[in-house]
Amino acid sequence: MMRILLLGPPGSGKGTQATALRARWGLLHLSSGDLLRAYVREGTELGRQAKPFMEGGELVPDALIIEMMAERMSRGDAAAGYVLDGFPRTVAQAEALDRRLAELGQELDAVVSLDVPEGEILRRLSGRLTCPKCNAIYQVDTMPPAKPGICDRCGSELVQRLDEDPEVIKKRLAVYDAQTAPLLDYYRGTGRLYEVDGTIGVENVMHEISRILESARGGPGEPDT
Ligand code: AMP
Repeated sequence: MMRILLLGPPGSGKGTQATALRARWGLLHLSSGDLLRAYVREGTELGRQAKPFMEGGELVPDALIIEMMAERMSRGDAAAGYVLDGFPRTVAQAEALDRRLAELGQELDAVVSLDVPEGEILRRLSGRLTCPKCNAIYQVDTMPPAKPGICDRCGSELVQRLDEDPEVIKKRLAVYDAQTAPLLDYYRGTGRLYEVDGTIGVENVMHEISRILESARGGPGEPDT
């Protein structure tokens, strides 16, 4: 059982690595962005409130996110561990998560930060395609689907996210620097922060993260799946 947090700017590979971790370690992928997009698609009250923030590249208010993630993390399937992707994104959210984990007598096993320079982020995000059904992620140049525009995993038609036009991408990166980057110092203080170069290729990043997880749980061991 592992509880892991992936940190890093949009486009740093958190979603791709979380998907790989699910396949290799059997860990549940909890993405706040995927959850929000599902609520927006379903037209729920939370979705209606979150939508304008998401479309503008702004953060959805902490109170909404904290409640949404607390609800999601309290479901039975999260009891066996998870990879957090996109949450927490502010110090207030990190503090709320810590309080919640402390109440449950739990803690994060590792916080992995994926480091990718801004030029590379812009290149990756402008060619990103997402599956609206299963949330798989592709990149037209470096990680294309086998059949153009079609999800390898579930066969749905891939889309470009509304918040992935160049202006909104710039806004999301500025928001990351101002509000989320301070979490690196926050977690550095816990001694559980591991920084990984996110530009070394999907497989190599996966290898690095696996190494970190093995050492975080006390030495080499077989993955769960
Ligand atoms: P992502 O898929 O993680 O890039 O998230 C897409 C958008 O959802 C972000 O730009 C925010 O508007 C919103 N969002 C996702 N996670 C959070 C969070 N933890 N706090 C606030 N807003 C979030």
